[in-house]
Amino acid sequence: MRVALFALGGTISVTGGTPRLTGEQIAAGVPGLDGLGVRIDVRDVAALPSSGLTFTRVLEVVDAASRAVADGAAGAVVTQGTDTLEETAFLAGLVWPHDEPLVFTGAMRNPTLAGADGPANVLAAVRVAVATPARGLGVLVVFNDQVHAARRVRKTHSTSTAAFVSPDSGPLGHVVEDRVRILAVPPRPGPLPHRPSPERLAATRVAVYTAVLDDDGTLVDDLARDRQGLVVAGFGVGHVAGALAPRLGAVAGRMPVVLASRTGAGPVLRATYRSPGSETDLLGRGLLDAGMLDPWKARVLLRLLLAGGAGRDEIASVFAEWG
Ligand code: GLU
Repeated sequence: MRVALFALGGTISVTGGTPRLTGEQIAAGVPGLDGLGVRIDVRDVAALPSSGLTFTRVLEVVDAASRAVADGAAGAVVTQGTDTLEETAFLAGLVWPHDEPLVFTGAMRNPTLAGADGPANVLAAVRVAVATPARGLGVLVVFNDQVHAARRVRKTHSTSTAAFVSPDSGPLGHVVEDRVRILAVPPRPGPLPHRPSPERLAATRVAVYTAVLDDDGTLVDDLARDRQGLVVAGFGVGHVAGALAPRLGAVAGRMPVVLASRTGAGPVLRATYRSPGSETDLLGRGLLDAGMLDPWKARVLLRLLLAGGAGRDEIASVFAEWG
């Protein structure tokens, strides 16, 4: 059995000196990995903080992982920094077409620290990558012995080894000793056909506007300038101050504007509140609802769709399916 492991950098590779640990060195530091009977084919793709990753880089890794499973790998593992992992894994999940698991993981504590979590996370990720019950689940995030759907997982803490949580659904399963126990199998929308070129991605800019207390809203116009799409991280169920609603409606007449919640869990509503700036008001002005996608994931999806040439109707229907 084989697993392709793509190393992209991040805390799991940080030792304080330079260079960072390579993928081989990360794998060599995992107690018990040798005993799994799994050959690990390591590729060093990048050695970066995850803030330096790009959509194009992630899509290249997806393509390389696709080739690996087409060549007979049972699954693939990506190690990277945790800061953007909820976005990169979601992006990969939007286009990953295979039954073989593509598993993202990393570490909250670097390898020099007591209780470094990278080795345990890599071991669990490899177990999941080869596990029969994990097949068909799409892209997964394995952290702290939990298995999360990339579509639902969020980084919810800056330092905790239990930072990755799926607030709306809970984890899909757990790694227990040598067993991968999947307890919930969520619906999996089909992969999106959009594979925009690096040039199209570079030319497609999507901003996030966060609703905040007592904001005059001028930032909305600044953010929308020279952008092709906007995500609104609204209050609660998808609200902004009433005075901002016409401004957002005007932007929605020029480009897709997606309404998400800044709360960290739960959906945007569609038809409960009616005051100016409420979800009903904003959707009536042409904003599209993000469902349960948080603003960061909504931005990933909107940018991929726009860069792939999707129009408003397609964007609305994809958000309805993936949200
Ligand atoms: N947590 C950071 C990240 O997401 C680590 C920074 C680093 O690797 O230098 O990548």
